[in-house]
Amino acid sequence: MAYEIHTFSPEQTKAWGARLGQLLFPGAVVGLEGDLGAGKTCFVKGLASGLGIDEDEVSSPTFTLIAEHYRGKLPLYHIDLYRLEGAETEEIGIEEYLFGQGVTAIEWFGFLPAGLVTDYLLISLSFGVGEERVLTLTPYGVRYEQVVRALQEREGKRQR
Ligand code: ADP
Ligand code: MG
Repeated sequence: MAYEIHTFSPEQTKAWGARLGQLLFPGAVVGLEGDLGAGKTCFVKGLASGLGIDEDEVSSPTFTLIAEHYRGKLPLYHIDLYRLEGAETEEIGIEEYLFGQGVTAIEWFGFLPAGLVTDYLLISLSFGVGEERVLTLTPYGVRYEQVVRALQEREGKRQR
């Protein structure tokens, strides 16, 4: 049950991130995939604002692999595995985030060791024409299926 969303500006991508952020729960894991510039960080900015965190706090973690944001209704752990460069995920203590009480958003989710998390929401971003982006949301596990369903229902109501 994948859910495909088309956005046509960074603002629209952020708006979807914010809607998702409002539906997440302690311990939620959101995996992001897509090439450089696809909009992963943009989406996480929206996610942050949906959790009540200032989106300006969120940036591409350059030297820090992990940025922790505590000003929202849930902690947000923003992880970018692109710069992991061979460092073991155990070395950065990723399990503590994944199995903690905050929301963990991971860019370049595919670099995570296979099988480390089994329940998560995968968001794949790809390029359309110009500013168009295609966001494909695939839930793994019942909790994430419910989240995606809630997002779809909200969108339905918004269009009515
Ligand atoms: P990533 O983290 O995937 O490398 P970023 O979120 O850092 O990507 O960058 C996305 C870039 O694409 C930004 O410069 C943003 O302004 C631009 N952009 C253009 N259209 C969109 C869109 N529809 N959604 C998200 N970003 C967009
Ligand atoms: Mg990024």
